[in-house]
Amino acid sequence: MGAGEASADGQRPTAGERGHARAVVNRLAKRYPQIRTALDYRDPYQLLVSTVISAQTTDENVNRATPELFRRWPTATDLADANPEDVEQVIFSTGFYRQKTRSIIALAQDLLAKFDGVVPETLDDLVTLKGVGRKTASVVLAEAFDQPAIAVDTHVKRVSGRLGMTTETDPAKIEQDLKALVPRDQWAKLSMRLIQYGRDVCDARKPACWRCDLRRLCPHQPKTPKPD
Ligand code: SF4
Repeated sequence: MGAGEASADGQRPTAGERGHARAVVNRLAKRYPQIRTALDYRDPYQLLVSTVISAQTTDENVNRATPELFRRWPTATDLADANPEDVEQVIFSTGFYRQKTRSIIALAQDLLAKFDGVVPETLDDLVTLKGVGRKTASVVLAEAFDQPAIAVDTHVKRVSGRLGMTTETDPAKIEQDLKALVPRDQWAKLSMRLIQYGRDVCDARKPACWRCDLRRLCPHQPKTPKPD
């Protein structure tokens, strides 16, 4: 059974829609049994900061920069006081380094001012922090706190749309549709699995439909044929 929540259009999903979602979830769970974020982190503060830095770059790039970042500024208190030029040098390779430096220092200062430097464990509190939207907050909740949350990024949006799990384009509405379809205990892993499937198979420009485990469950047309 789903969580009993309504979809973004106010309706409850039908039994058929929930069954379809269950089949998708089961296939993805089989393919990626132990999924977790590819970002390296030791605590919720590190995951929060790493997630902000991960915008517009790969997780591998972030993981190369963050050991030095967290060695020099291990807590929000340290980062809140950091010299921006020093931080820029450390995260330079992740791109947009000036903007990201401003964002993470402002985030650390805000975290200190509002929550004594301790990352809060609710969506409502997390999204009050500077630069933290629902997506980042949901990643932290699901990964660092093992709480039911669905982070909707570009992969989740595309793959869930192609699979017919939502017709919405607004991330908050997509989140609502997925929450209505999928049991609560599957939420946290679902976004990670959809993200990984989007990277591995259901590519934005050229989805590999010919080798897709979900092909029979996917209404998206046209399907990409096997290359010659
Ligand atoms: S069949 Fe194609 S579009 Fe559908 S989920 Fe698979 S790769 Fe994506």
